Amino acid sequence: MTATIISGKEVAEKILTNDLRKKVENLQSKNITPTLVVILVGDLGASASYVRQKEKFASKAGINSEVRKFNDQISEEEILKEIEKINNDKNIHGVIVQLPLPDHISITKVLNSIHPSKDVDGFTPTNVGKLFLGEETLVSCTPKGIMQMLASINLDLKGKNVTVIGRSNIVGKPVSILCQQQHATVTMCHSRTRDIPSKLSDADVIIVAVGKPKFVTGDQVPSGCIVIDVGIHSIDGKLCGDVDFDSVSQKASAITPVPGGVGPMTVCSLIENTIIAAERLSYSE
Ligand code: NAP
Repeated sequence: MTATIISGKEVAEKILTNDLRKKVENLQSKNITPTLVVILVGDLGASASYVRQKEKFASKAGINSEVRKFNDQISEEEILKEIEKINNDKNIHGVIVQLPLPDHISITKVLNSIHPSKDVDGFTPTNVGKLFLGEETLVSCTPKGIMQMLASINLDLKGKNVTVIGRSNIVGKPVSILCQQQHATVTMCHSRTRDIPSKLSDADVIIVAVGKPKFVTGDQVPSGCIVIDVGIHSIDGKLCGDVDFDSVSQKASAITPVPGGVGPMTVCSLIENTIIAAERLSYSE
């Protein structure tokens, strides 16, 4: 079997053309241009490259994005003040803090200081809590993008077995909740799970967010499964995911590539969340 490639790049372009640009035009007709601020502390190569991708997609969607750069000596208090300023600025609809942060700054404190209505990464306790309860919220970007990719192949998750490897707050946990909301039966694996291949053997969908290159191999997955690879690694200058694409794509019916899979969808969801945040603000005015 040769798997269908679920191209996140193509799904993101479709969402941009069919949905996001129209929403932005509609807001602009009310004199609102959705505006995203990205806080970047230090000059980590990878973070800077992610930020550029976000800026590029924002510009394609017609929204404003502004990167506020700070050197890595900035104090926690100064960052918190900056976020307070942004929380009170009516012309800014979304803010994200590019992670990681230097060790002297508490990620929890910083993220929790973002007003939930502007938390377009969906990381604040309020938005995570709403997601858990199934209430309308700003859903964190990578899980949201994964669900859109599954929707793009018209997959009905009702009654399906989904195995998620990884239980991080930003990927594994939220995506497992979203799959359960669509009536899937979810198995969660993590570093203490015994015999992971046995948890994959009856999976219809496998979502891998483990942070280890080529962790899942073709001999471990059942024929015909759908595989979402969240990982991203650079090995000898070549990008790969948490899934061994060559062997797994021989068994799967559909698979996301790295690069060009989950990454572009994460960026697309961030821009979509900024537009949603701007729409909500316009309704409340
Ligand atoms: P993370 O916070 O490092 O979490 C990794 C998870 O994998 C943890 O739950 C950990 O278990 C589990 N794990 C580690 N070793 C394991 C093992 N040997 N067996 C089973 N489970 C194991 O990672 P993350 O933030 O979710 O990111 C995962 C990957 O996705 C990374 O490569 C990251 O760069 C990538 N990523 C990509 C995007 C994108 O947009 N493409 C977005 C986010 C993340 P414990 O909880 O027990 O420690």
